[in-house]
Amino acid sequence: MDITSVQRYRRATTRTELALAPGETILAGGTWLMSEPQPGTTGFVDITAMGWPDLEPRPEGLRIAATCTIATLVRWAESAPDAGSPAPPPSAWPAVALIPAAASALLASFKIWNTATVGGNVCRSFAAGALVSLCVALDGEAEIWMPDGGARRLPVAALITGNGTNALAPGEVLRALWLPASALRSRARLHKIALAEHGRSGAVVTGRVDPDGQSVFTVTAATLTPTVLRFSALPDAVALAHAVGTASGYYSDPLGAADWRRAVSVELATRIRTELAA
Ligand SMILES: Cc1cc2nc3c(=O)[nH]c(=O)nc-3n(C[C@H](O)[C@H](O)[C@H](O)COP(=O)(O)OP(=O)(O)OC[C@H]3O[C@@H](n4cnc5c(N)ncnc54)[C@H](O)[C@@H]3O)c2cc1C
Repeated sequence: MDITSVQRYRRATTRTELALAPGETILAGGTWLMSEPQPGTTGFVDITAMGWPDLEPRPEGLRIAATCTIATLVRWAESAPDAGSPAPPPSAWPAVALIPAAASALLASFKIWNTATVGGNVCRSFAAGALVSLCVALDGEAEIWMPDGGARRLPVAALITGNGTNALAPGEVLRALWLPASALRSRARLHKIALAEHGRSGAVVTGRVDPDGQSVFTVTAATLTPTVLRFSALPDAVALAHAVGTASGYYSDPLGAADWRRAVSVELATRIRTELAA
């Protein structure tokens, strides 16, 4: 699509150059920005030349650069643990298996996967955001650069404030996403459903059991903002169904009615519980 309002394009290579002038918008992969008119945007500031390392596995967890493409993240997750490519996923992090499962919920061609960034998906903040589902499932935190030179961290579950809205203030830039090692050590599952075979997700449900026995279930795509349900142990089927079924925020749109989303979320959570209990 021709974005006719845009008259300026520049590549940021330093933090100072991330300061936005009036009318400027951050450009990452551009797959959404170029897909529809952007009224009010007169300039793009491309962050893909910032030189941020895509993936940094550390003892405390995985730091994913906002500019890491979805394809790069999936390739890393699917590489052999503890061997091969530089710093592959440690075998102590079985929940890395959730990465390809979540990414495949993003209905897109290989061109989108190879260009769209993890940060762009989170910042677009769709209820059905595939990488939002991943981050919320694993207690992911957003590392945010503020325009005054400071930084702050916010759980991704709190960053998303609606279907397409988030808590980023004007001028703030998502620098990275952190997945803590404590969650990466869990046994985790993800199930999703869409009304159409290749349609955008109507509900994405995840469940995990941490090494200390605590469990976390999440619902995204079906609720306007991420739903996170925490339990001191794997709940019994009745308690889980009640918690998922009485959560707030189920909504209706062409991708599914609210009562359908609620019902399928309960069903998906029940299946995940059965798998985790096995
Ligand atoms: C064919 C197609 C299918 C799609 N299917 C899905 C789908 O199934 N599920 C889904 O969730 N999405 C879907 N999308 C939208 C998807 O969210 C985006 O295309 C993609 O994830 C955005 O990544 P990007 O790097 O291209 O971001 P861009 O398009 O460059 O940016 C997206 C938004 O995020 C902002 N932004 C980007 N990076 C940062 C940052 N680091 N800090 C602050 N702001 C930032 C931009 O200003 C812009 O507002 C689809 C898009 C297309 C074109």
